[in-house]
Amino acid sequence: MKKLRPPAMHATDTVQACVAGITIPERAQALTEALPKIQMCEAEYLELGPPGELYRILPSLGVTPVIDTALMGVIYKNHFARQGSPSRALYDRIRMAPEFGLCPLCGQRIVTTVDHYLPQARFPTLNLTPANLIPACSDCNKRKLATVPVRAEDQTLHPYFDDLGNERWLIADIQPSTPPTVSFDIRAARAWDEVLTARVINHFAVMGLAELYVAQAASELADMSYGLECIGGTAGPAGVCQHLDVQFRSCQARDPNSWKTALYEGLRDSDWFCSEGYGLIRNRHQANEQAIGYVYL
Ligand SMILES: [Zn+2]
Repeated sequence: MKKLRPPAMHATDTVQACVAGITIPERAQALTEALPKIQMCEAEYLELGPPGELYRILPSLGVTPVIDTALMGVIYKNHFARQGSPSRALYDRIRMAPEFGLCPLCGQRIVTTVDHYLPQARFPTLNLTPANLIPACSDCNKRKLATVPVRAEDQTLHPYFDDLGNERWLIADIQPSTPPTVSFDIRAARAWDEVLTARVINHFAVMGLAELYVAQAASELADMSYGLECIGGTAGPAGVCQHLDVQFRSCQARDPNSWKTALYEGLRDSDWFCSEGYGLIRNRHQANEQAIGYVYL
């Protein structure tokens, strides 16, 4: 999970921008009248977010007697997120905030949407609250869709409020096999309490990050196999270890807990991988060549 700076805007800004784009006078009036309620809910959200207590916010069936959950959904979709609406610039500022356009929830895929941390269907008063709007990839957005936390431990990580620190906590385990087997695990940092540890584990499970990172690691291994065999052929296991150490430090300098940082650290620290495992990576190209060769023989 990548920490993000909270959007430099408030619900007052998003509501007023929406109102400016609504051509139905009654609807614009109803949203203007709902602003005090939306501001009150935003204040509660900003108070409970930093200590990780958003699960205490109760769901509601609407915003005001005039604006029910369905209408608030329409307002978000047609008057806030729609291309060409006056508020679209605010939506885009939230969506485009992450570095390199990468989803803060998985740190891997591209941001394609804006996710409501507390979902629209249950928390319509927070539909336009910037701190509740998280840039996300469509996979993370879909995986999180139905989850409504009822306990502190059930909450997925919130990029604006949760800080996991720079201590190493994502660990890659390398098991001897052909090809080498990589798995990812979480080692609680010293600064984490039990609730945060449970939340990180829950976040990984909900977003399917262990599987995602294993697939990425397999592809990375296939990419590096030729280079490692060259290094191993001339410099031996010490040379392989040294090369992996440089790769680890390079990845760590940017993100101490990316899957790549964890992978290179795990490979560097595996005596088996540095001495023989690097020669047992089968990349798809080699496999295809062998398969084709077999057919023609
Ligand atoms: Zn994602």
